[in-house]
Amino acid sequence: MKIAMIGTGYVGLVSGVCFSDFGHEVVCVDKDPAKIAKLNAGIVPIFEPGLDALMARNVAAGRLSFTLDLAQALAGAEAVFIAVGTPTRRGDGHADLTYVMAAAEEIAGALDHYAVVVTKSTVPIGTNRKVAEVIRATNPAADFDVASNPEFLREGAAIDDFMRPDRVVVGLETDRAKQVMAEIYRPLFLRDFPVVYTGLESAEMIKYAANAFLATKITFINEIAALCERVGADIKAVSKGMGLDGRIGNKFLHAGPGYGGSCFPKDTKALARMGQEHASPIQVVETVIKVNDDIKRRMIDKIEDLCGGTLRDRTIAVLGVTFKPNTDDMRDAPSLTIVPALVGAGAKVRVVDPEGRREGEHLLPGVDWLDDAYAAADGAHALVILTEWNEFRALDLPRLARIMAEPRLADLRNVYAPADAAKAGFVAYVGVGRQGEV
Ligand code: NAD
Repeated sequence: MKIAMIGTGYVGLVSGVCFSDFGHEVVCVDKDPAKIAKLNAGIVPIFEPGLDALMARNVAAGRLSFTLDLAQALAGAEAVFIAVGTPTRRGDGHADLTYVMAAAEEIAGALDHYAVVVTKSTVPIGTNRKVAEVIRATNPAADFDVASNPEFLREGAAIDDFMRPDRVVVGLETDRAKQVMAEIYRPLFLRDFPVVYTGLESAEMIKYAANAFLATKITFINEIAALCERVGADIKAVSKGMGLDGRIGNKFLHAGPGYGGSCFPKDTKALARMGQEHASPIQVVETVIKVNDDIKRRMIDKIEDLCGGTLRDRTIAVLGVTFKPNTDDMRDAPSLTIVPALVGAGAKVRVVDPEGRREGEHLLPGVDWLDDAYAAADGAHALVILTEWNEFRALDLPRLARIMAEPRLADLRNVYAPADAAKAGFVAYVGVGRQGEV
């Protein structure tokens, strides 16, 4: 099976590499010459654990290649995947489909044989039909079907998620397209991973509904955490006690500084917008969007309170700025709200992140980047754990307390027990949804 993959970002590159590992012949296309040059030199342009080795293996086996030339990628391909970005459109929350539609037009211009045009990007309900219209309008002779195949991988665990998915969702309308899609995913089907076939609209909706549900779960536990702080409960115990209920499940019940990242913020906004446009508002999700913004701002107040009510001339060491560990992705990270607020309030901010610096440097002006937590904490008035990278999970707390000017800890991921912080010499501790402020 020959596959063309348009877009070599977090989704397109991982999907292309994994499909080639299934044994398919994959040609990945991108518009960005710098990305394609890197990929052709064997360099993975993003940080995703395990991707470099898997990519090298499949390039060496002759199954995987990269090009700027879409027509070349399309030659003989039985399926062409669209995996380009769908960011929030400026102003109204709608998903911006410029890149998807541009890709559809380019495909139409180059298509000279039957192929399934598969949208992997997260797109509003109705988009696959629009993709088909654009292709037909651009090239009335084109022989094709469309399919919706939303992606559920998580950055940081993307390869495992792709290779061992909870499910694969495929929306389509013809047997011919089904045969092609079944062949592409046969290695997963053979290993009993569920493949759910639906219509186009249902597949598109599954992706938004799933992401909005997860964002709601996180926001729900974050609001319960805020109440826990007031009433003497501990969110860790509450999450555990809730999560053991099989109907609820223990995932996405970790209180923290609010959700961020490349998907939840934009997908919740796009779903809310769709609800408005169709006069069927999704009020729960509209509220989640607002509450999540409040939660991020609440973190700024926490840090200010921890520092005795003012941030002016305080040196704050921030550990972790990517939206979660094991990725270099900074899109809509809570740090992009919290760190500028600290700088704006007059604090001197030092930042440490194992992979975030390349993206983060231009997004977070006015901060100093340091290489490790101890260098950042030296002489600081507060330490803020914002992203729970492994290297921040086993810090030498007594050493940190010794080198800080004022050992205060804002543990916004609840990594450490308040009692351990106190024992180590911290004079103040604040977490999310727990008691025991020192
Ligand atoms: P990304 O921004 O990392 O990558 C998009 C790539 O597409 C870029 O390299 C860009 O240069 C390229 N591109 C744009 N237009 C092109 C064109 N016409 N031809 C060739 N290349 C083109 O985006 P991403 O994070 O991979 O997300 C892609 C889609 O997948 C989005 O719709 C997103 O919502 C969805 N998604 C993302 C994730 C995630 O964790 N990042 C997970 C599931 C779904």
